[in-house]
Amino acid sequence: MSEKRKDFLRAIVERDLAEGKYKEVVTRFPPEPNGFPHIGHAKSIVLNFGIARDYNGRCHLRMDDTNPETEEMRYVEAIKDAVKWLGFDWGEHFYFTSDYFGRLYDYAVELIRMGKAYVDSLNEEEIREYRGTVTEPGRRSVYAERSVEENLELFERMRKGEFPEGAHVLRARIDMASPNMKMRDPLLYRIRHTPHYRTGETWHIYPMYDFAHCLSDYIEGITHSFCTLEFENNREVYDWILDTLQVKPPRPHQYEFARLNMNYTVMSKRKLRELVEKGAVEGWDDPRMPTIAGYRRRGYTPESIVNFCEMIGVAKANSVVDVSLLEFAIRDDLNPKVPRVMCVLNPLKVVIENYEGSEEIDASYYPHDVPKEGSRKLPFSREIYIDRSDFEENPPKGYYRLTPDQPVRLKHAYIIRCKEVIKDEEGEIIEIRAEYYPDSRSGSDTSGIKVKSAIQWVEAKRADRVEVRLYDRLFRVENPQGPEDLNPDSLKIIPEALIEPSVLAEKPDERFQFEREGYFYLDPVASEEGHPVFNRIVPLKDSWAK
Ligand code: ATP
Ligand code: MG
Ligand code: MG
Repeated sequence: MSEKRKDFLRAIVERDLAEGKYKEVVTRFPPEPNGFPHIGHAKSIVLNFGIARDYNGRCHLRMDDTNPETEEMRYVEAIKDAVKWLGFDWGEHFYFTSDYFGRLYDYAVELIRMGKAYVDSLNEEEIREYRGTVTEPGRRSVYAERSVEENLELFERMRKGEFPEGAHVLRARIDMASPNMKMRDPLLYRIRHTPHYRTGETWHIYPMYDFAHCLSDYIEGITHSFCTLEFENNREVYDWILDTLQVKPPRPHQYEFARLNMNYTVMSKRKLRELVEKGAVEGWDDPRMPTIAGYRRRGYTPESIVNFCEMIGVAKANSVVDVSLLEFAIRDDLNPKVPRVMCVLNPLKVVIENYEGSEEIDASYYPHDVPKEGSRKLPFSREIYIDRSDFEENPPKGYYRLTPDQPVRLKHAYIIRCKEVIKDEEGEIIEIRAEYYPDSRSGSDTSGIKVKSAIQWVEAKRADRVEVRLYDRLFRVENPQGPEDLNPDSLKIIPEALIEPSVLAEKPDERFQFEREGYFYLDPVASEEGHPVFNRIVPLKDSWAK
């Protein structure tokens, strides 16, 4: 393993293994199935599965499904898909916290028997008020005086569904004056009557995070439980529960790391769900969404996302990662891999008056600096299309492409020169009449003509029509809060772009560089038979700041 990746969590794992504290490292990735996983989850997946892999341990995939109101089976599937797609394997170790409801209940009963938990009947507002503040100690509810027998009976009746939601909660008896607010008799169970997506109406009480998480970790034999910094104060509760129940060693320990925050991105399933529900995006897998399914459909490779997560590393302090780093990661991954092809996004017809017949030009798919083999035939004839932006009648200074006075090279083919500009009644250019230099063919050019650039083009009759979708950032501000910050221009659809025929006929790859336009991927969801749709994964250069 490279030194670069030996972060503080790996240092802890190495120490624990060296000291013989654990025989094997066991981590877990514990998402709640209440939405599609996002790039922040990728960070946690890469961390947890990565540590298990690096130290020959194992990583469990656990659905942390203790909230019947928000969880669904389709999210379970989306999470599994995402982890697999990123290249990780949980093997046999796929679990549900909901499978532990019976055991968790028994642990709660044990705490009650020990006098360490009680049924409280204050309402939500009173609970908050009694808890005190950071500067004021809290006070304990009168209900904390209930006897063990009364608590056992009430808890049993809560389970059976005899009380309305909010009537009672189960709390740990810890310390209402603790400087750590989380230790002021934390809630362990609450009443919920909504059916659970897996256990249906079996349960009317559901364990809180603080109670379920440490015990689920313990039940599964987790050694290192990594969570984000917001849970730092929960660690004391985590330890209190395991210590009070005197669980058998070896027991798990919690460690915190900084969550991934990224500019121009919202990173919370709740906020992402809002975008889906309001119809601001096509769905969880919209190619603009920061979900793993969204990046996948857009054309990101799993390698690029894993590399990104390794590049940002894990730290002990929160920070905001620049989204351009993720864009760098995908360019860096695709640049040495993918074929270069030509696609004209805004076609302008060019008729080469002195060209007769047709030919096929052999052109490599890869530039010299990409060590890959492969080429295709480019059909060429007197009618071609170039991009509108590659011709200027009144060029600004420094314009290197085709103008009435300046020839240009057609990539892999000939140099052409503009003879005449044809316009419609509105004055819009509809066609260029041109002339080519027969001795200027790329690779055997003896024309002696100097050009300043080469542009992409396609042969008119043989080009395929494709839809192209260009994406911009979903949010227009660095620190977006919600739908009000959406970028209205995040999607630009080009209904009819023209692409060279080899792309669809030969399918040399799944991802392409369209010369000078960026990296593209055939959208597996939006494409239909006879109607291919290409997503721009990322432009060639970071041009957003301009
Ligand atoms: P969200 O607010 O998006 O719902 P969450 O933390 O509630 O996030 P969970 O499904 O509970 O989502 O998270 C599963 C795991 O992923 C947790 O261990 C959590 O720490 C981790 N995780 C979630 N968001 C991030 C993030 N932005 N960066 C790193 N890890 C994250
Ligand atoms: Mg959570
Ligand atoms: Mg959440």
